[in-house]
Amino acid sequence: MKLKESQKLYTKGLVNLVGAVNSPVRAFASVGGNPLFIKKAKGSTITDVDNNKYIDLVLSYGPMILGHRHKKVQKAITKALKNGYSFGASTENEIKLAKIVCDAFPEMDKVRFVNSGTEAVLSGIRLARAFTGKDKIIKFAGCYHGHQDALLVAAGSGLATLSLPGSKGVPEGAVKNTLIAKYNDLESVKAHFEQHDDIAGVILEPVGGNMGVVTPKDNFLKELKEYLQEKGALLIADEVMTGFRSKFGGAQELFGVTADITCLGKVIGGGFPVGAYGARNEIMEMVAPLGGMYQAGTLSGNPIAMAGGIATLTELKRQNPYKKFNKVAEEIEKSLLKSAKKFEINVTVNRFGSMMNPFFTDVKVTNFEEAQTSDTKKFAVFFWEMIKNGIFLPPSQFEAWFLSSALNKADLNKVKLAIDKAMEAVSKM
Ligand SMILES: *Cc1c(COP(=O)(O)O)cnc(C)c1O
Repeated sequence: MKLKESQKLYTKGLVNLVGAVNSPVRAFASVGGNPLFIKKAKGSTITDVDNNKYIDLVLSYGPMILGHRHKKVQKAITKALKNGYSFGASTENEIKLAKIVCDAFPEMDKVRFVNSGTEAVLSGIRLARAFTGKDKIIKFAGCYHGHQDALLVAAGSGLATLSLPGSKGVPEGAVKNTLIAKYNDLESVKAHFEQHDDIAGVILEPVGGNMGVVTPKDNFLKELKEYLQEKGALLIADEVMTGFRSKFGGAQELFGVTADITCLGKVIGGGFPVGAYGARNEIMEMVAPLGGMYQAGTLSGNPIAMAGGIATLTELKRQNPYKKFNKVAEEIEKSLLKSAKKFEINVTVNRFGSMMNPFFTDVKVTNFEEAQTSDTKKFAVFFWEMIKNGIFLPPSQFEAWFLSSALNKADLNKVKLAIDKAMEAVSKM
């Protein structure tokens, strides 16, 4: 397999870009080797600059749920482009996308569009503080909520449980109102409430996707919500990853829980930079211009991004691929477990709708600590063998694999064959 052109661009990129990337996970640091440079993508397939073709299970870390360049999305954005790219004034498409999103989340009356998941969450947190008049926020170790200062603690890094900044440049003052709890462990939340009376709310991924996929235990979300209601604190659901991935709407609903504030991103922009936060009227009326919580954006509600989002969600609703996602994920899970058994490798597979991943461990993974028992060296070997066999995976043990509705039977067979070869390679380490 040739990666010559990618290597050339990598060397060139190092001059004026940091590590030749604009987001760290793209650098392949945890699997070794140099990053791939991409030329184009269509449907389920992505092509690098050396013309190697891969079945894409990264899908831009989630947004490309219909596969790449779906013809209806392409048509919608091409049409929008003809009218201009940005106006600094409202357009009808913002209202249309807002209605699609609010209709999909029963607890959401109003929504505000921003430009990324990070922005959605930092605004959602500000809103929770504005609404409750309290400052402290509880987050769970291993949950990632974007790169805002206040939540860059135990965010899939090794700093779990200690309230220490997970990044240089984050002052201790910025995280002093952030409390860390253990995912799937309500007692760890209660312990904080026993010590503090100024907790505005709890933020979580309803299904963890940034420590690998970690699903909530049976009544965890329900009991958490009930407890928070008792305490007068808000539940903030970060559905930037899970939104529209396991049903049309939020993962919350599948677990019988409604969050007070919901944050979205990824899928709702269909590949364009869009984030959103929304809630019931009473809460959203805190936001300027209706209320005193300031939040703004020059490019927010960008007309091209709105057109991409509307077309993506409309087509997603029409396709309703969620049963298919579960079936495909189940088949991939079976294939992972079967090959792992054949080559005597310890593997645990977690999945939820169209997100899934194997952990190279014999431990059942229900939180960040357990996820960290994974053998990342094995994952690195597995990853590169998958690449060699034409499957593009996220280059980290702790990222979810994503499925698109463009995956067909032949793609799936290719994935299964690659998995068997990759497990064999791991067994020969
Ligand atoms: C990706 C992600 C974010 C951050 O979104 P960006 O668009 O990368 O800023 C926040 N929360 C969760 C759960 C995510 O998966």
